[in-house]
Amino acid sequence: MARPSPLEIYALLDKSNCKECGYDTCMAFATDILERKVRVQDCTHLMQDPKQMKNREKLVQLITPPQKAVTVGIGERAVTVGGEEILMRHQLTFYNQTAIFIEIADDDADLEEIVKYLTDLKIERIGDVLRLNGIALRNVSGDINQFKLAAKKIVEISDLPIMLCSFNADILLAAAEEIKDRRPLLYAVTKDTWEQIGKFAIQNNLPVAIASSNLDELVSLSATLQKFGVKDIILDSGTYYGPGNLSVTYDKIMQLRTAAINKEDKNAGWPIMGVPAAYWSQVKIGDDKELWEHQYQEVIMGAIMESIDTNLIVLHTGQKKEEIWALLALMTLRQSVFSDPRIYPAVDPGIYKIGEPDGMAPIFVTSNYRMTKIPVEQDLQGSNLNCWLLVVDTEGIGIESAVAGGQFNAGGIAEAAKEFGAFDKVNHRILVIPGMAARLSGALEDEADAFVVVGPRDSSGIPKFMDTQWKPEEFMKEYASWSKE
Ligand code: SF4
Repeated sequence: MARPSPLEIYALLDKSNCKECGYDTCMAFATDILERKVRVQDCTHLMQDPKQMKNREKLVQLITPPQKAVTVGIGERAVTVGGEEILMRHQLTFYNQTAIFIEIADDDADLEEIVKYLTDLKIERIGDVLRLNGIALRNVSGDINQFKLAAKKIVEISDLPIMLCSFNADILLAAAEEIKDRRPLLYAVTKDTWEQIGKFAIQNNLPVAIASSNLDELVSLSATLQKFGVKDIILDSGTYYGPGNLSVTYDKIMQLRTAAINKEDKNAGWPIMGVPAAYWSQVKIGDDKELWEHQYQEVIMGAIMESIDTNLIVLHTGQKKEEIWALLALMTLRQSVFSDPRIYPAVDPGIYKIGEPDGMAPIFVTSNYRMTKIPVEQDLQGSNLNCWLLVVDTEGIGIESAVAGGQFNAGGIAEAAKEFGAFDKVNHRILVIPGMAARLSGALEDEADAFVVVGPRDSSGIPKFMDTQWKPEEFMKEYASWSKE
């Protein structure tokens, strides 16, 4: 699908530059609507003036992505999946990252404890807070009351979005009736249950997931449900383990994505989900492998799905605290895949205060590559050091590459020290540079008129460096001997 231009959007706006949306001009609004920073509803003229109704409809059509977005849950933790315009991340950016749901059996004796743990789980990594997105409650008991009870229990103790999972429509809808105000995802609609579940979804404005391993059947059910009036659909073409089945799983997801994005097939144009947790029902778990080896297979499937922008995945591994390794792997990968390739991974250059530095506190120098500055800062904070961090503009490039490419150089560091008043904050003229930039030390001493100490190659070595090598008085004596010369 060709991306509309800001001019095409502008043509449909009121063009009065009334500023009621908070923008100075309609053109600025048009630019940000493309980036999904504002919505059509934010233009009061377009929404309130009946004469502009046609333009409003045209605009909504123009900016609706070929793969529609679907929201599960309500409130702050509601999760929106899909809504993508491109097949490959480098073509633009992905807007909504893969949502990770963890499955729980409705008869699990530890349900409450697991739900609380998953709800509170929070991992901070390079400036982002990584969290899970939902709970997939499976009707393992086969009991309608047990399923209802478990669903009610989850909404009492958690604000995470919920996916209700049962192939028995009566059981599924009984639980959905109990928690419909929380906008659960109904899994799954099949060729036998589309009418019953579809009717309930329409009445309660709920999203549904269709499951079929047959792609023709899947898109045909999607067409039927849309005609019926269902507004939000997610597609599950199946997750298969065993010889050759990984490629089958991959191909089906890619076929659906290609049909939606490249061919603008409206029936395929919905978010896609995968269920790596299917491993546990498809593979015979014998004694020939350790438990982690099985879990590893599930995590690999999850990683493959994330890398091809599968919009929602359901995992089994990750329920328990000792399985955090699985979530760390998938949430870290997700953070990379869904970072915006158009945004420079840079932070603002400057001098950053860590703790309560005194006059002899060290000044560590680093680059303004986000993934260098933030981990260095976290290492310094984690070691309870009181110091300064001088962040030099290296055009968002990490130390090693920036030294090789010349962006991290003696002149630039000296200039940054001067610009940000680094030496005004301390009673010395010592700079600690990263070990990877050791070769700049001589030139930097001249350029910055400072004593340069080569620190560790990795910031995790800073505490040891401080214990064994940080001798500011000695460094200053040496500095004084040259500066007099
Ligand atoms: S509210 Fe609408 S008409 Fe007014 S400036 Fe914004 S986009 Fe333009």
